[in-house]
Amino acid sequence: MAKKKYVYFFGDGKADGSADMKNLLGGKGANIAEMTNLGIPVPAGFTITTEVCTYFYEHSQKYPLGLKKAVAQALKKVEKSMSAKFGDPKNPLLVSVRSGARVSMPGMMDTVLNIGLNDTTIQGLIAKTGNERFAYDAYRRFVNMYGDVVMGVRPETEKEHDPFEEILEAKKKKRGITLDLELTAEDLKELVAEFKALIKKRLGKPFPEDPMDQLWGGIGAVFESWNIPRAISYRQIHGIPEGWGTAVNVQAMVFGNMGDDSATGVAFTRDPATGENYFYGEYLTNAQGEDVVAGIRTPQPINRAKKVPKGMMTLEDEMPKLYKQLAGIRNKLEKHYREMQDIEFTIQQGKLWMLQTRTGKRTAAAAVKTAVDMVKERRISKEEAVTRVSPDQLDQLLHPTLDPKAAKDKIAKGLPASPGAAVGQVVFSAEEAEEWAEKGKKVILVRVETSPDDIRGMNVAEGILTSRGGMTSHAAVVARGMGKCCVAGVSDISVDYKKSRFTAGKVVIKEGDWISMDGTKGEVYKGEVAKVEPKLTGDFGTFMKWADEIRVLKVRTNADTPHDSGVARAFGAQGIGLCRTEHMFFEGERISAVRQMILAEDLAGRKKALNKILPMQREDFVGIFRAMAGLPVTIRTLDPPLHEFLPDIKDTKEINALAKEMGVKPAYLKKKISSLAEFNPMLGTRGCRLGISFPEITEMQARAIFEAACQVAREGKRVLPEIMIPLVSHVNELKLQRAIVEQVAKEVMGKQGVKIKYMVGTMIELPRAALTADEIAAEAQFFSFGTNDLTQTTFGMSRDDTGALLASYVANDILPKDPFVSIDEPGVGKLVAMGVQKGRSTRPGLKVGICGEHGGDPDSVDFCHRVGLDYVSCSPYRVPIARLAAAQAALKHRPAKKAAPKKTAPAKKKAPAKKKAAKKK
Ligand code: PEP
Ligand code: MG
Repeated sequence: MAKKKYVYFFGDGKADGSADMKNLLGGKGANIAEMTNLGIPVPAGFTITTEVCTYFYEHSQKYPLGLKKAVAQALKKVEKSMSAKFGDPKNPLLVSVRSGARVSMPGMMDTVLNIGLNDTTIQGLIAKTGNERFAYDAYRRFVNMYGDVVMGVRPETEKEHDPFEEILEAKKKKRGITLDLELTAEDLKELVAEFKALIKKRLGKPFPEDPMDQLWGGIGAVFESWNIPRAISYRQIHGIPEGWGTAVNVQAMVFGNMGDDSATGVAFTRDPATGENYFYGEYLTNAQGEDVVAGIRTPQPINRAKKVPKGMMTLEDEMPKLYKQLAGIRNKLEKHYREMQDIEFTIQQGKLWMLQTRTGKRTAAAAVKTAVDMVKERRISKEEAVTRVSPDQLDQLLHPTLDPKAAKDKIAKGLPASPGAAVGQVVFSAEEAEEWAEKGKKVILVRVETSPDDIRGMNVAEGILTSRGGMTSHAAVVARGMGKCCVAGVSDISVDYKKSRFTAGKVVIKEGDWISMDGTKGEVYKGEVAKVEPKLTGDFGTFMKWADEIRVLKVRTNADTPHDSGVARAFGAQGIGLCRTEHMFFEGERISAVRQMILAEDLAGRKKALNKILPMQREDFVGIFRAMAGLPVTIRTLDPPLHEFLPDIKDTKEINALAKEMGVKPAYLKKKISSLAEFNPMLGTRGCRLGISFPEITEMQARAIFEAACQVAREGKRVLPEIMIPLVSHVNELKLQRAIVEQVAKEVMGKQGVKIKYMVGTMIELPRAALTADEIAAEAQFFSFGTNDLTQTTFGMSRDDTGALLASYVANDILPKDPFVSIDEPGVGKLVAMGVQKGRSTRPGLKVGICGEHGGDPDSVDFCHRVGLDYVSCSPYRVPIARLAAAQAALKHRPAKKAAPKKTAPAKKKAPAKKKAAKKK
């Protein structure tokens, strides 16, 4: 058996790996390999595979046999490529050790730089660079980072300061200086010794001088960092499986802080906030990579593609030749990957090195624009473009922005780091953000800068505001990934954590005060600013048109009012899949009439009450039919449990008033209400059982529907009513209700002389209905799966009471996801598939849809495509999400293209592509 390869080398224009090996080499390792093979200058190094990480955790943190040897061999190659030797006192090679998971997890795991430095090799570095200060600066950073990340010397309590930082501050104080830059080589040398002494004192063991020990310490720390709390949180938020593991990249160090001919930067091949096609990036001269991302110094733009603050230089001005080379690499990478890239580079003493390229995280607006532009540039096909935006991300574009006409009190301006609007109360820590959000408050997290430890707080905040940092700072990158509004680098504000406030000029904003932010303009306003609905034209319209051309599933909406119907239609809904009529019964005086109907002594009393409701209900339907003219409208007859309509028996005032209105005694009313009480109303008199107990209700509703339909049809509009009977478990229930509807339809149409094409169908939302769908289909002209109730009754878990229980089930891996959010394919899904198959066995071509909440969940939409539903129906704001999810499902499960027929043998029919289970992206 061939020996497993655990280590992949890259350098000198040749790499063992390539971009399609992300699962094994992690995103970073795979792309570094690809860049190397493209002839792009990359410092040599090697990648230890993710399989080693998995092995490490499965074997009590031990490495597989042969790894040490493979690392030693790869290190030799790196030495050769970089013409330096690891641990050599004269010409030392230094390396970095970095994590690299399959998908990028920015800043979540550990990194160690400058490995290979010790009291001997430092002399070599000084001799090589001729810069003693630089060398000792690198050395003290290394001991600090290694002591913290690998050896665990860090604050022991929350209140304690960083112990290395304390020593550094004490040194500066002693020397009477304020900036790190003012420290001399001698100071830095002393710091190295003091840092080492601290480590010895804390741990009782010395800092490792042997470069090989340092290297293996670094590798172990990176593998271990896969399981540190912030990495686990990030994985949970982004649905990254634990089993993926991280790769480790060991790479020759290059330095951006070797003087004014050195620099380091981060760039995107297009603007990640807007998607505009220009080379966008930031850099700092004489700096380390982490200085740009950490937001400690505000970086400069790489070019003048956009307005540059007066007096500020760009890379294009300062190092034109290198900028040209970098711009060339940008074009090469985009052409090669056919996708927007996020790149990191370092210039060491006039030589450009590329350290990383990956698919750039971007806002939804930028994702749509980039996808559309790349089709126009003939880089990608329309089909590919449609896969480039995740349906959930689209949500960002469908929500309101700050009203341009609203009065605003602008208090500060920063960088437009992540667009959208945020209105909320100010908090100053991630913990507070979580606490407040848990209480249902909307918060804006205000920080000087954010760090990976703030990830949970950022996730619950409406928006993020930082006083420091650029467009590629942690806050900006993470906020864009989360689709959250972020204004970064607002240097006009001063944040005071101790006093829990920030000041912007004379304005003081305290914890709990309301502010508003416009992430597209980078502006901050005092107080709550009104919002407006988004416009869905331009690139968005083009993009959605392509999605519509591809998808097979139709998308309808769940809407109960003309307003919601209009919103959904503007979002592309192809009809109403569920109009719940119950809310119409609660409005204004209607509830009193409904109560009179339910509590009436006899049929005459009930009819009298229903006659009061009829005209109001008819008006509702007229509005909806008009808004949805030409499109099908599924109206469901009354569904909720009886008790929801009744007054509280203890509310004497209300009982007395109702009794008076009905002309009965309060005592009679109370008795009647008690007699109707149910122990388990959700499984009691609800759904069609109501209509069976009180056929007059169904009759009145059918009358209202058909009278409205006739009226709108007479206006010249096309009306397509579909009457849907809920909570059917036995075909006879449907038979009875259908007969009522058909009787009324005949009567109304006859009377009005208008012919309306209509259908009567049912919801499949009980297991018995799914199991007997073949019988039910004999009476139903269509099915709509009510997966909310179907999930509730299949699991035997109340949909109203099990939120916390299910959250703990998911957290403890009892269930992979909340089945009320994303369909439980093995259980509920099986009933749906069975229902479709049985229904169509009786009535071929039976129209089948879904109207439970799952209709707007991308994974569930994928499932609906696979089981052959005709449509999904979801809330208006989720309609575009479902349209895109449906298109992506169609692409993902497209049957494989037929092979060209051979001339000799007759062509065989090719089986459709194997259907894969939906996977969270
Ligand atoms: C369902 O049960 O899935 C459904 C759509 O009906 P409701 O949520 O109104 O019970
Ligand atoms: Mg239901």
